[in-house]
Amino acid sequence: MAAVVVDEGVHADVRTFLSQDRMMLIDGKWVPAASGACFEVVNPATGDVLARVAEGDKEDIDRAVAAATRAFESGPWSKMTPSERGKCLWRLADLLEEHLDEFAQLETLDNGKPLGVAMVADVPLAVDHFRYYAGWATKLNGESIDISVPFAPGAEFHTYTRREPIGVVGQIIPWNFPLLMAAWKLGPALATGCTVVLKPAEQTPLTALRLGELFSAAGFPDGVVNIVPGFGETAGAALSGHPEVAKVAFTGSTEVGKLIVKAAANDLKKITLELGGKSPNVVFADSDLSSAVPGAASAIFFNHGQACCAGSRLYIEQKIFDQVIDGVVENAKGIKVGSGMDPESTMGPLVSQEQFDRVTGYMESGMSQGAEAACGGKRVGNRGYFVEPTVLVNTKPDMTVVQEEIFGPVVTAMPFSDIDEIAAVANDTIYGLAAGIWTQDISKAHKLASRIKAGTVWVNCYNIFDAAMPFGGYKQSGWGREMGAQALENYLQTKAVCVQL
Ligand code: ADP
Repeated sequence: MAAVVVDEGVHADVRTFLSQDRMMLIDGKWVPAASGACFEVVNPATGDVLARVAEGDKEDIDRAVAAATRAFESGPWSKMTPSERGKCLWRLADLLEEHLDEFAQLETLDNGKPLGVAMVADVPLAVDHFRYYAGWATKLNGESIDISVPFAPGAEFHTYTRREPIGVVGQIIPWNFPLLMAAWKLGPALATGCTVVLKPAEQTPLTALRLGELFSAAGFPDGVVNIVPGFGETAGAALSGHPEVAKVAFTGSTEVGKLIVKAAANDLKKITLELGGKSPNVVFADSDLSSAVPGAASAIFFNHGQACCAGSRLYIEQKIFDQVIDGVVENAKGIKVGSGMDPESTMGPLVSQEQFDRVTGYMESGMSQGAEAACGGKRVGNRGYFVEPTVLVNTKPDMTVVQEEIFGPVVTAMPFSDIDEIAAVANDTIYGLAAGIWTQDISKAHKLASRIKAGTVWVNCYNIFDAAMPFGGYKQSGWGREMGAQALENYLQTKAVCVQL
């Protein structure tokens, strides 16, 4: 039995879910790891064990891939019409929505984020994502092509393309938005008719496992979605190198993204990667500061800065530098750091001890290299993984805190004087995931947006996501796009059929 420690006031279904060791989903059944091993999942607000989960490894990945292969090649899924696939996805969205409270609580206990955020962002966005891709299932058409064939005069042809699912897909996801990342991956893969082996992050496997309980009721046949929790170096590596996996979709660190590329190289699997970032957020003197200042604060502090697109490099036009810093500091000081289950909290703990050590290590390295904390810079309390929202000033472009992804609530702030300077500085990193621009000059906004090398540029807003809007990275922030029509291409391949009449 799991050694579960949960507060009073937790949903009865969540208590029941946490009261038993959680198994893995293979071929429609909940089964233990072949080794019998389990690992402990920790509540980051307390450091206590929250649940015990079956620990997948190579043998479990092999079983899951075999189930996904059967389901793809010969199961009822392979004969389902696009409309039936769409209905399954829509029913999944409905079921998830019916259990919104429960999923939100589970996410908060597992990841640490404030319950209010899980309720209005994580779970509803996941619901919306499944609905969006439900609609796409019936719209994946090829085209007919009139060909000329100069060396076959007089011959007639009927030529068309088919857009076919790529096959068995391995999906490896991170811990910062556990349920939403599962939805980003599963939605387009299932709309196209692929089958999936999903590996959630070892820190936060719970909402993906709970989602796994809904697939059968939504109408998905056994083996279409398999969920194998476990660690990256074992289960993740086995999945990304498996010869029968046709494609790997990964979200996580740039470092691990490079390992995925190497693992997939043997048999030239298709890969998409959504990786790290060090996104610039640029505030011009002509911006509306009543939205730019809170916008700059939430660009970094949302989800405790544990977002690949966090606006972690704040650039402020020289003449309003002090004013904006004062405003962002005031916003930071207004943040109530505490357990995500406490309705008063607006920032929860970091996800793990490892992440806590990493973020506090960056705070110390920044200050030892000469940066100054305009606010924050320390841990909060002595239990759980809480840190203060931190604004670092007196930073220099070559400091580690300015170049490397911290993945915590730490922003570096620097002044700039004109658009040419900021265009160069904004691009001065290995990453290219996102950027923010705050100005009331529409020409300036569009000009800078086109010069920034990033997959998303937000103007007078930040962290706006929608299932219909593509998201992904330039440079070392990734390959390919998630969301929107573009994500479907990750799971489809085109076949040309040429018929001589
Ligand atoms: P972070 O450093 O933020 O924890 P990671 O990139 O390490 O992010 O992890 C993201 C996901 O990648 C997790 O599901 C993790 O288990 C998985 N992972 C880590 N290492 C590997 C690996 N060598 N091969 C495949 N997956 C991995």
